[in-house]
Amino acid sequence: MRLGWSVWLAVASLASAAVLAQAPDKARKTILAVGAHAGDMEVAAGAVLAKHAKAGDRVVFLHLTLGEGGNPTLSPADYGAQKRREAEAAAKVIGAEVVFGPYKDGELPDTEETRRFVADVIRQLKPTHLIAHWKKSLHKDHSVASAVAVDAVLLASLAGVTSRYPPHRGLWRVLFTENWEDREEFSPYVYVEVTDALDAWEKCVTQYQFIRGGVSSFPYLEYYKALARVRGAEGGFTFAECFDVQPWGKKQAVRALP
Ligand SMILES: [Zn+2]
Repeated sequence: MRLGWSVWLAVASLASAAVLAQAPDKARKTILAVGAHAGDMEVAAGAVLAKHAKAGDRVVFLHLTLGEGGNPTLSPADYGAQKRREAEAAAKVIGAEVVFGPYKDGELPDTEETRRFVADVIRQLKPTHLIAHWKKSLHKDHSVASAVAVDAVLLASLAGVTSRYPPHRGLWRVLFTENWEDREEFSPYVYVEVTDALDAWEKCVTQYQFIRGGVSSFPYLEYYKALARVRGAEGGFTFAECFDVQPWGKKQAVRALP
């Protein structure tokens, strides 16, 4: 797909610091968290999402796949059914909603169809904020999910793109999560205090067996709790979760030195 400069500039301006400063913070936000696998968005951004849901904002998880592979004792079909139940319970704990994509773990298609699917979810939910994976990952589904989410924001905004749903141009921010699998070139940029949301986060993520133990050897709970403490210390809080933004979102335009 070829895009004119005016389209690119319009997309870039949506993410610019100057425009972000005008975001309607007091209005009810709708935050859409797009993850490759059920559990990805909860572990890395669940405390922020719990905090906003508690404040009255609408929070929706879009799990593109269930993440049904990799259980040493269950078949993908059985573990997928379990992951779906766990995802629904995890969302319910923090007062969020959940939407499931139709894709298979490890086989998330890097295609226009996947982008159109996510764009249609955006058109229907009309999010003010979108949370996605960082672009560089050791897991191919995460990298694809990141590119898909970013491109879907654009596709959802264009009136010329054929869809059953009207275009949505009200997305103020795309934020990328700090995930242990997506470390390469990730640089924390936005620090969000989650001190009062950490208990809700733990109750949310422990709905998943892979967090409680017995599926993966990675110490998820300890890692993300320690990371929240480290980021909290850096941000001047007790606990914090961090996000990166697109490079052009780091632009600051000021009339004099701040
Ligand atoms: Zn994942």
